[in-house]
Amino acid sequence: AKEDGRGLWRFFESRMDADNRERRMLELELSQAIREGELELHFQPLVSAETQDPLGFEALVRWNHPIRGMVQPAEFIPIAEQSALIREIGDWTIREACRKAAQWPGELMVAVNISARHFQLSDIAEVVRLALRESGLPGERLELEITESLLIEKTDDVLERLREIKAEGVAIAMDDFGTGYSSLSYLMKFPFDKIKIDRSFVSASSEDTVARDILRSIIMLGETLKVRITAEGVETQEQVEFLRGIACQQLQGFYFARPLNPADLAHYFIDHFRK
Ligand code: C2E
Ligand code: CA
Ligand code: CA
Ligand code: CA
Repeated sequence: AKEDGRGLWRFFESRMDADNRERRMLELELSQAIREGELELHFQPLVSAETQDPLGFEALVRWNHPIRGMVQPAEFIPIAEQSALIREIGDWTIREACRKAAQWPGELMVAVNISARHFQLSDIAEVVRLALRESGLPGERLELEITESLLIEKTDDVLERLREIKAEGVAIAMDDFGTGYSSLSYLMKFPFDKIKIDRSFVSASSEDTVARDILRSIIMLGETLKVRITAEGVETQEQVEFLRGIACQQLQGFYFARPLNPADLAHYFIDHFRK
């Protein structure tokens, strides 16, 4: 039995070494990914609940790795956050999203996810100003999505910098609303322009009357505070009808479209904007 235990331990140890090596390898490759042009943004439409017309797109980063194929953000954003790479990646994302959006038809907006660690490491307000200037995109067409984790530390400093960004006309959205511990207290501390209701409420709403009641209450809260509301993770016709019924304004989810790669986005524009 003793032998077995040691054997098992050695197994775990070598597994851990392998995981660490894999991590270091990814980190190294990631540091080259931007230069090599391997990162790309996919765009998922946000639509008007009333007309189902696109209002804009959320930028979702992908890593088109030469051997591993398309790597999803859940696999590399945490690695980037543990090193300083998130700064480079995050800054690039803001600039690239603005550059792309400036070429879109109409007045479509673009939403960019900002990780708390990126916010710490970079002068986001300056990066945003630069990105708007070099792309020519009006600030009113850019939205930054932040999560509660950003507001947990050094709140005053963060709020000051968010105000600076808002002064450029850029909207600030609270992402994954309802999943943290103090979403409501942050609504009191900072004038968000938008709330994005986490998709867990939307998916639960199909079966759960409590989830439906919570959704209805968040919509009412948004109306009272004059904050726009987006429901994310909309997958079924039934969810669309329920959300329209409770006057949720903006919808996003696989029911309308998955995040679109550049070729799919071009087709989407042809389908939706050709007269
Ligand atoms: P998020 O900001 O909550 O983004 C929404 C995620 O939900 C996306 O996954 C999207 O593909 C997925 N989604 C959209 N509609 C549906 C639906 O109807 N059903 C289901 N099941 N899922 C749906 P993705 O692209 O894998 O991104 C995951 C997370 O990675 C994002 O969550 C965000 O936190 C982070 N992320 C993505 N892109 C970036 C980025 O450019 N910068 C930073 N800092 N984080 C990013
Ligand atoms: Ca988001
Ligand atoms: Ca979200
Ligand atoms: Ca999220």
